[in-house]
Amino acid sequence: MRILAVETSCDETGASVIEAEGVTLRLLSNVVATSLPLHSKTGGVIPEAAAREQLKYIIPVIKQALEESKSSQNNIDKLAVTVGPGLIGSLLVGVETVKAYAYAWKKPIIPVNHLFGHIYANFIEKRDIEFPAIALVVSGGHTDLVLMKGSKSLKWLGGTRDDAAGEALDKTGRLLGLPYPAGPKIEELAKKGKDIFKFPRPLMHSADYDFSFSGLKTAVFREVQKMDSAGRAPNLENISASVQTAIVDVLVTKTLKATKEFGAKSILLGGGVAANQTLRDKFELEIRSLKLKIPLLVPEKQLCTDNAAMIGAAATLIGKETSWDKIQANPELYFD
Ligand code: AMP
Ligand code: MG
Repeated sequence: MRILAVETSCDETGASVIEAEGVTLRLLSNVVATSLPLHSKTGGVIPEAAAREQLKYIIPVIKQALEESKSSQNNIDKLAVTVGPGLIGSLLVGVETVKAYAYAWKKPIIPVNHLFGHIYANFIEKRDIEFPAIALVVSGGHTDLVLMKGSKSLKWLGGTRDDAAGEALDKTGRLLGLPYPAGPKIEELAKKGKDIFKFPRPLMHSADYDFSFSGLKTAVFREVQKMDSAGRAPNLENISASVQTAIVDVLVTKTLKATKEFGAKSILLGGGVAANQTLRDKFELEIRSLKLKIPLLVPEKQLCTDNAAMIGAAATLIGKETSWDKIQANPELYFD
């Protein structure tokens, strides 16, 4: 079965063609256009601007994904599209475009939850994931822990009560005058710095699986203010290392707590922050020191940030097809 998937939930326009044979997924094309350079000028995503960029890219990106995979109306069996969560203007571009293709080509559509996409990015060209598994979705908009009892069973355990981990990095970056999105830059600066500030690790030992990262940026703000009033320039390397270490500590501690409680046999990461090597290294270190002997699965970097291949994977493995007139964008969609 060949599926054309589209992702437009935020500032990336993605289209991908996936060939599925049972549970084996083969990526035939994965095209992403990003409007990030535009948003770095404004220090964050302006929803209206993101939607306008989606409109510019959507048809060329779909066309390229079809060409690269040598696909057309004749050999595409199904379509898939992200219906939420995300920015309504951006979502509408993808959803309405795919509806038009489905109507014209007389093909079914599979509506996909973007968060499921981040988890199922781990299933592309991999078949041997052992269950139960714990999945951590960690991105610019989300921080969620999910229990998977099987490849089609997702149970939400907890999530952030305020800022997502990536959002905390991006907002810290803004305070420090770094370009948006700040995650990769903070990772680079942190390599030369030390965790000297010992910022708070909110909810790290709470009994639930919730997260809270908004207090962290307030702590950074206070530290920067102190340096300002003392006439000192903030040491970007040390602040970056301190913020990154605090976030990584919380993410790893909570994920491993869930791993132990549910006897998980694998840990899956997904979302843009999963591209962070320090996070991956800390996971590997703790898994070894706890003698857990379970694999940490992380998608390739270009499958961590928003892309349509992950939407095609989720559609193939857990999606339910329907007709074009039953699909709607839903910015508030969550785990259900
Ligand atoms: P997403 O929301 O999945 O598209 O991912 C974007 C988020 O991932 C932004 O908040 C980025 O700052 C963050 N991000 C991307 N690369 C890295 C990295 N190497 N380290 C930390 N955060 C990152
Ligand atoms: Mg995302």
